This record gives sequence, structure tokens and C-alpha cells, in this order.
Amino acid sequence: MTTTATKPGLDVPPFQNEQVKDFRHPADAAAMTAALAEVARALGKHYPLVIGGRRIETEKKIRSVNPADPGEIVGLTSAASKEQANEAIEAATRAFESWRYLTLTQRAAYLFKVGALLRERRLKYDALLVYEVGKSWPEADGDIAEAIDFVEFYAREALRYAQAQPIVPIAGERNELVYIPLGVGAVIPPWNFAGAIMIGMTAAAIVCGNTVVLKPSSDAAIIAAWFVDLLEEAGVPPGVVNFIPGSGSEIGDLIVTHPEIRFIAFTGSKEVGLRINELAAKPQKGQKWIKRVVAEMGGKDSIIVAGDADVDSAVEGVALSAFGFAGQKCSACSRAIVDERVYDDFVDKLQRRVGTITVGDPRDPGNFMGPVVNQGALESIARYIERGQQEGRLISGGKRVGERGYFLEPTVIADVDPTATIAQEEIFGPVLAVIRAKDFEDALAIANNTEFGLTGSLYTTDEQKIERAREEFFVGNLYFNRKSTGAMVGVHPFGGFNMSGTDSKAGGRDYLLLFMQAKTISRKV
Ligand code: NAP
Repeated sequence: MTTTATKPGLDVPPFQNEQVKDFRHPADAAAMTAALAEVARALGKHYPLVIGGRRIETEKKIRSVNPADPGEIVGLTSAASKEQANEAIEAATRAFESWRYLTLTQRAAYLFKVGALLRERRLKYDALLVYEVGKSWPEADGDIAEAIDFVEFYAREALRYAQAQPIVPIAGERNELVYIPLGVGAVIPPWNFAGAIMIGMTAAAIVCGNTVVLKPSSDAAIIAAWFVDLLEEAGVPPGVVNFIPGSGSEIGDLIVTHPEIRFIAFTGSKEVGLRINELAAKPQKGQKWIKRVVAEMGGKDSIIVAGDADVDSAVEGVALSAFGFAGQKCSACSRAIVDERVYDDFVDKLQRRVGTITVGDPRDPGNFMGPVVNQGALESIARYIERGQQEGRLISGGKRVGERGYFLEPTVIADVDPTATIAQEEIFGPVLAVIRAKDFEDALAIANNTEFGLTGSLYTTDEQKIERAREEFFVGNLYFNRKSTGAMVGVHPFGGFNMSGTDSKAGGRDYLLLFMQAKTISRKV
């Protein structure tokens, strides 16, 4: 047993992002069609809880359905009771006693195996996302490519932290600083990046030496069940990741407040994130630490189109950012803030561009936009559209498509006041508010007028505006002359300010520090 920093000892090539597949290539398209067929044959399977490596079937189940065709059951998982959630935390506590003493390098080696297995099964995972959350082929592949990237990136980051850390030398002492894990964590992901975020948060936590209870989103529990099986295949010891699907409202508070839980890695809505933060702050009987909360939360992301912008390219960027994956990305553009000098031209062109968006079952690669995730989302978004029609001028969409799946038209509401409900609240669906700005100054003030601060873009040809936005556009991920979605691991470390979270950057060099603590060891010589 040692906490001494080790030499990396693994010879790995530098990190490189996975290439996202181009399904216009016949070979990739044929492979994806085959993967969809293969996964379809396995739909409806039951997946047990996994606690300390034991598989436990419960009577109560969570049903994961295909949002494009809710009659189709993607799979069922057992649902953990409060007792089972407690057992999972105990199993993680026991596993921590050995997992913590592996070196960062040894744990990184597990992650490289996980990455290799995910790469091997990439198209099957892509296909599962098409069924489980309604992603189009490219969106599903982007999600899984990002998951692989997280695993590969964090493994290399662990190797970096395994090296001797720089410290000021002093005569008469030998000093070192080493990174050690925190303890048992709760990993609570959302459904929207059901692969990338669930896998990324879990991988970061365990490579640092923590053990976890993974409570997946109830809308995307099957992909998490697959991943937990894959971890076992990669040789990750029992109890390091315990799988406890269950409704957040039923077992969430118990997990968050449990005195053995040392940290919570959460991605999801502002409301749930704030609740977790509040509950975690109160020490429980027997609790020996201040819990750490890593919360990545909602957004109300703006794209500013300046008076000097290339309007065609801005229209394209806004359309892709607003309607990719039906607007269900935390980075999605939900407000286009347009200088009045180009406003009418922009609105006109945007209306035409949005009219070309195809909506339908994402099994068909001809459809750009699939369904929204569930009935609750469909109803909530429909209420915002209704409200939006009182707050602005509907220029595209507004209606449900078909009756079976949870499909909505891409919806654009123009002439929206910057303080209107649809300009302020996160809708998380295919609804875009277009806001008229008097000038760039005004546009920047509008862009900063929400409680969030996640992503933002500016379309301009003016260097001075770029300089001002660099200083004053208060978002965690700021883009110029490009869409606001599609952050890449390592390239665009991702996470927002204000009510968008605890200021962390997933896929960045600071991220693993959130899952470790530093220990200084000083010896007189
Ligand atoms: P959500 O409703 O907040 O749920 C997120 C997770 O929290 C789910 O696993 C959910 O479980 C669980 N949960 C619910 N209530 C809980 C409680 N009381 N205690 C503990 N856990 C609880 O969010 P979502 O609809 O899945 O995801 C969409 C949201 O995520 C959007 O707001 C989006 O902006 C945000 N997001 C942010 C980022 C970012 O990087 N900032 C990235 C992606 C998504 P159940 O499913 O069982 O309820």
C-alpha cells in the first residue's frame, strides 16, 4: 500500500479525438443498418441491479421505451429500493478499501481496456441510442465517440497526475505532493448525452480511485446497464461501480444525504442540481467530510448575429444549434439575438432553412430531427410553444407531428422580448426565440440577461466585437462564427457559469482534480 506518486509506466500515444462517422459512406451506412437490426433483436431484455458484483432482480421495474414509438420497450431494468441503494453504498465503501490503493497508472490501464471495448462496439451503442433516446445516426455516433474520448482523455490525465508534481525544493527536506481519491461517490447523469456524460462522469470518478453508485437517468437506463457489463468485461473489480437504477425522486435524496457519500457528480436540470447541492451541504450523523458537488446544469444559450455578420452562415449555425437532437442539448441555441440591421433578412432566411428540416423516426437516416424524449417533455414543450405564441410571432412549426411518437415541429418564434418567459427559461426542446437587438451593445446585454452562462456564439466580421465578446459575453463556452453545440473532449473543455453549474470543465485538464484531493508529504533528510 502506498500513496507515493508513480511514474506513468504506460506507453500510450497522445490523445486524439475519435472521428465521427459520415454515414453518407455506403459501408458505414450498411454497418449501422446491421447494428440497428442486431440491437432490435435484443430489445425488451431485463437488466438487474449490480451491487458488489451481485446481480439482483427486483419486482419493480423501470421501463425504457423508444420515444419514436413508445409502444416499443427498449428494455427493463430492476428498480432499486432504498435498502438496495444503501447496500450499494456499503458495497462501494468496501470496494474503496482496495481500489483506492491501486496506482493511477493501474487504474488508467483499466480505462484503456474500457475504451477499446467501447470502440469495438461503437455502432451497437450508436444503435441503442437511436432506440432509447431518439438520436439521429450522426447524433448517436457523436455521443458514443465523445464517450470514448472521455475514457481515453481521462486515462491520459490520470497518467499526468501520476507523475511527480512540481513543488519548490528546500534544503533538508524531501517534499512531494500526491493526488489521492475522495471516497464513495454518487454519479447521477441525464438522458440527453446518455452515453458520453454517464460514461465520462463514471470514468473520471473511478480512474481517480473512487468507487461509485451509478444511478442512471430513468429515461436512459439500458445504455448504463450495458456499460456496467462492459466494465466487468474490462476486469474492473466488483463494487467499484454499483448499478442502481431508480427514480430520482424516490432514491435520489437518500443517496445524496447518505453519510458515506463523499461526492456527487451530477449533470441535469438546475432544479435538481440545486436540490442536490442544498441537501449535500448539510452534514449527516456520522459524516466526516464536507461533500463535494460537481453539478453541470441547464442553459439558455444565445447566438448573437451582429449587423456585419455573414447572415447565411449565421442562419446555418443557428438552425443546427437550435434543432440538432431536437434542441435537447444543454448547449443548444434557444435564443438568436439579431442586430436590427440584418433582422428581417435573418428571419426570412431562417424560416426557409427551418422549413427544410425533416422530422421523423431516427431509424431512418433521412430524418434530421427525431422525437423529444418522453410524454412529459412533449407536454412541457407544448406549453412553452403556447406561451411563446403570446410572447412573439410564430414563424415556423408549433405543432406536434403524428400521434404515436413524441415528435414536434422545429419551432421558431420571432419578435420575442428579451425578458419574456421563452427568452428566459430553459425549454429543452426544438423551440427558438428570435430577439431583435438595437445594436451590438444591446445584443451583448441581452445575451447576458439570464441566470445561466453555459454556451454562446457570436457571428461577426468585426475584430473589435470579437474582443469585446471575449471579455464580456459571460459563458463557459464561447464560440465565434460557428455553432454553439458540438464541443469536443480536450479541444473545447465544457461547462458553464452561474446557474449552469459549479464551473467545472468536463473534458478539460482541471476535471480530474474535482475527483481527488492533494496530500503533501514532507520528510526531513
Ligand atoms: P434531470 O431531470 O435534472 O435529471 C438528471 C438526473 O437526476 C437523472 O438521473 C434523474 O433521475 C436524477 N434526479 C432527479 N431527481 C433527483 C433527486 N431528487 N435527487 C437525485 N437525483 C435526481 O435532468 P434531465 O432531464 O435528465 O437532463 C436535462 C437537463 O440536463 C437540462 O437541464 C440540461 O441543460 C442539463 N444538462 C447539462 C449539461 C451540462 O454540461 N451543463 C449537459 C447535459 C445536460 P430520474 O431520471 O430518475 O428522474
